[in-house]
This record gives sequence, C-alpha cells and structure tokens, in this order.
Amino acid sequence: MRNLSAIRLRCFPLPDKTIIADVNIFLLLPLLCGLGLGWLVNYLADVLPDTVTLTRPKCPNPACAQTPSWAAYLQLRNCAGCGRRRSPRTFITLGLLPAASLFLWLSPPAKLGYVLGTVVFAYLLTVAIIDLEHRLVLRPLSIAGLLLGASAGVLQHGWKSTLIGGLVGLGVMSLFYLFGMLFTRLRARRLGQDPAEAEEAFGSGDISLGTILGLLLGWPLIWFGLLLGLLASGAISLIVILVLVIVRRYKEQAFMVFIPLGPGFILIAVLILYLPNLIGALVPK
Ligand SMILES: [Zn+2]
Repeated sequence: MRNLSAIRLRCFPLPDKTIIADVNIFLLLPLLCGLGLGWLVNYLADVLPDTVTLTRPKCPNPACAQTPSWAAYLQLRNCAGCGRRRSPRTFITLGLLPAASLFLWLSPPAKLGYVLGTVVFAYLLTVAIIDLEHRLVLRPLSIAGLLLGASAGVLQHGWKSTLIGGLVGLGVMSLFYLFGMLFTRLRARRLGQDPAEAEEAFGSGDISLGTILGLLLGWPLIWFGLLLGLLASGAISLIVILVLVIVRRYKEQAFMVFIPLGPGFILIAVLILYLPNLIGALVPK
C-alpha cells in the first residue's frame, strides 16, 4: 500500500500545502488594505462636505442629526436615534475598494505600482462620491489632489509631461467654466431670475479637478481624457434624465440637471490609468 500511494503522488503531484497557505495570506493583505481604505473613503465622504474637519460623523437625517459612537459607526449600524440605515454608497464603497485593491495587487500599473495606484484610486473615488452627492469639489481635497497628482504624474511620465498636462487641464476646464457661467446668465435672464442666484452649470471645483487629472494623465493623454470625459458626462446625464422620465419625476427642472463633469472625467481617468488596454481597444487605429 505504501508503494501505491508513493506512485500516486508521483503521478499526480499535489501542490505543496505551505504554498497554498502563502498565496491565501498574500491575497488577504490587499483585501484588508482595501477594506480599510473603503472605511476611510466613506468616513471622508460622510464628514468632509459638512464640516471640512475630521469630527465624528452625524446621522444624515437633518431632523435627527444624532452622532453615533465610533463603534456603531464602524460596525455600519442603523442610527440609534431615527433608525435610518447606512446609505447604499457605504456598502458599494466597501465592496469596490477591496476588489480594486486586489486587482491592483495582482496587476499593478507599470510605473505607479500597487501602493500609489491604490491611494490614487481611493482619492479619485472620494472626490467622485462627494461631487455626486453634494456637487462640490472641496478645497482641502483639491490641495491634497494637486500634490498626489503631481507626484504620481512625475513618477509615470516625467515632470514636463506632468506640467503641460496640468496646464491643459486647467485651461480647458476654465474655458468650460466661463462658458457655463455665460450659459447660466443667459438662461437666468430668459427665465427672469436673478443671475446671481441661478445655479451654475459648472462649479469652480471642476477647474481644480481638471488640473489634478491633467497632472495625473500628463500630456498628451489629458486631451484624450477630457474628450472621453465629456462624452461620459453626457452619457451619465442622459441616463439620469431617462431614469427621471421612467420614475415620472421629470419636470422642466430636468433641464437644470447638472452635467456631472467631475464623475465623468474621473471615470475616464480611472479607465486610462488602470485599464489602458480596454481604452486602447475602444479607439480606432
Ligand atoms: Zn438618525
């Protein structure tokens, strides 16, 4: 019998058990890092838009506004005051970041590497969430993004390409901003509103976001990023309007639907940075 099992082992060599254990621990690390980052992104998105300081997050229900304990917050419990559940975004983020972290661990972007690649992704996700939920790009996040974008840019494509990319992002988004302001004024005049109170189509935060993405993508990729970003933003707006029509909440106000330039540009920048082959396949040669 001993001989037989020896033969079987030789015919079907099983992988060494220690190697299997190593691989699992190896993958646990990026998953845990991603989970931690997911909590951080949720925390920043919960707390920064209201206070711009790192305090304990409050219940988003304005009638309640109770402050849960850290333990209750971290355990994703419902609000003790009004019973409100944590937002779907909380859970989406906690699923998305470990997945992204694992993906970047297994195939890290060539020059960015796993650590910087994951930090940049978490940063862009935070900005996109706050932009979608509050339509604003916060100044402290913009400053952090300029530093992060500049270092990641120089590492990937040198300082010249980074600098020109940043300037192009700044210039193009400033033009959009000016056109948006003009459009808002004209519309307000036609509707008989006070132009000072009319909602602006583009926020000034989009200018700093354009600069950050310019640094990150560099020249000449930023052109491509801005062009595809515009298309993506248009597509997102169209989907939002279609959903509003379907759930019958479409009113004249839908013309006021803002164009989510920020999230659209971020989506495209993420695809260019992390899935360059996918973008390459989309572009006719
Ligand atoms: Zn509450």
